[in-house]
Amino acid sequence: MTIKTVFDVIVVGAGLSGLQAAHVVKAAGLTVCVLEATGQVGGKTLTMRSTERGFNDLGAAWINDTNQSEMFKLFQRYGIDAEVQRACGDDVIQLADGSVIKTPYGQFPGDAKLLQGLLELLRTEASKVNLNNPCDSDGAKDIDKLTFREFCVQRTENAEASGIADTVCAALLGVESNEVTNGLGNQTISKKLSEELDPNTVKLQTPVVSIDQSQKDKCVIRTATGETIYCRKTIISIPTTLYHTISFNPPLPATKITLSDNAVMGYYSKMIFVFKEPWWRKAGFSGVLNPETGPISFTRDTSIPADDQWSITCFIVGERGRAWSKLSRSARYNQAWGQISQSFGKFVHSVPAPSNHLEMEWSKQAFFLGAPCPVMTPGTLTSVGENLTQPFKNIHFVGTETATVWRGYMEGAVRSGQRGGAEAVKALC
Ligand SMILES: Cc1cc2nc3c(=O)[nH]c(=O)nc-3n(C[C@H](O)[C@H](O)[C@H](O)COP(=O)(O)OP(=O)(O)OC[C@H]3O[C@@H](n4cnc5c(N)ncnc54)[C@H](O)[C@@H]3O)c2cc1C
Repeated sequence: MTIKTVFDVIVVGAGLSGLQAAHVVKAAGLTVCVLEATGQVGGKTLTMRSTERGFNDLGAAWINDTNQSEMFKLFQRYGIDAEVQRACGDDVIQLADGSVIKTPYGQFPGDAKLLQGLLELLRTEASKVNLNNPCDSDGAKDIDKLTFREFCVQRTENAEASGIADTVCAALLGVESNEVTNGLGNQTISKKLSEELDPNTVKLQTPVVSIDQSQKDKCVIRTATGETIYCRKTIISIPTTLYHTISFNPPLPATKITLSDNAVMGYYSKMIFVFKEPWWRKAGFSGVLNPETGPISFTRDTSIPADDQWSITCFIVGERGRAWSKLSRSARYNQAWGQISQSFGKFVHSVPAPSNHLEMEWSKQAFFLGAPCPVMTPGTLTSVGENLTQPFKNIHFVGTETATVWRGYMEGAVRSGQRGGAEAVKALC
């Protein structure tokens, strides 16, 4: 089917960045259509019902109210209640030999002085970054040559910093630190953003397969559902790692292809165990398990007491996650639940079985192929990083990894959508 209208802008992807870009276009009085491959809006924000009244986030969950201003504004605009993260009780640490100990909430089990030094170092380096063009900052090229692990070990002159680097990297990005250089209901925000657009603006289950720019001042977009749609500008919000899934005519410039080829997605899954009651709270625990071994990398208490929703969310990430991912569904459940019940079971007399569980393996989803966001291999950012946001003829590029602030987070996605939407509007007006 051919849609005869020529839209001012077509946005590819209805994650936070794409929907935010669509809002900017609509606010400028231009026509916009959003094409989304999956059956729902929100991208890597995915909220599912887990109890009669409760919900859990299988994608992004946390924001802060100090410097994630754009996300915080959206929370306020839509009147979304945020649950303050519970931070008390004892954490459980599972050591490499399988034994378990407990420590007060948040206490780092390793060399705290080394961690402190490393954080100080990162703060100092971060303060030197030119946020308008991070690749142009002092010493950026030298730092970009190193993996995060190499950076930590070199600068602290302590080989043990590699362990901390690995933990931080896997927890934040789902990759090991030698791969990279450097409870809310979050889907509700995407749903609200989508509802505020004109009816039928967002077309679900409509994967874009090609974008043709051979005609002057026009993009011809074809979808896997057989539609041909015309527009004056296109905004692409899909992860950089997926550019190869769309056929571009003329082809994307070499720099964009280099970026796409050198971006990697981490392994970052959540398995959420839901309970009838917060047995760990009653026993004085925080719900945090920090294991040195096993499939789980760390857990958090993601309960919402007002909804009588009691849950522990397990993050299964990086190399441990990739190995776990090869197991059958039931074996994955058994391994993860076994680790929780055995670790807490050393302290809690009787750990009740979960009343429900939810699982999301982003790496197995065709339109994501990993999570939480694309990260660049060493040297890529300072050689071609500038091209992340560079338009290509009538195509503009957004997505959390194109943000200079809070790259990789929901905040970065929203900010990139604002930037890309404004870019397209400016070019059209
Ligand atoms: C498990 C997990 C935990 C996270 N935790 C946090 C957290 O606590 N705090 C935080 O701030 N961030 C977190 N994040 C990161 C955050 O979710 C992302 O940074 C953000 O949602 C990315 O938004 P985006 O719009 O850039 O990309 P996406 O959300 O990936 O949106 C891209 C959209 O494009 C669609 N698409 C892909 N290909 C096509 C195609 N060919 N045609 C049409 N559509 C297509 C996809 O279906 C998707 O909807 C987490 C992510 C995950 C997965």
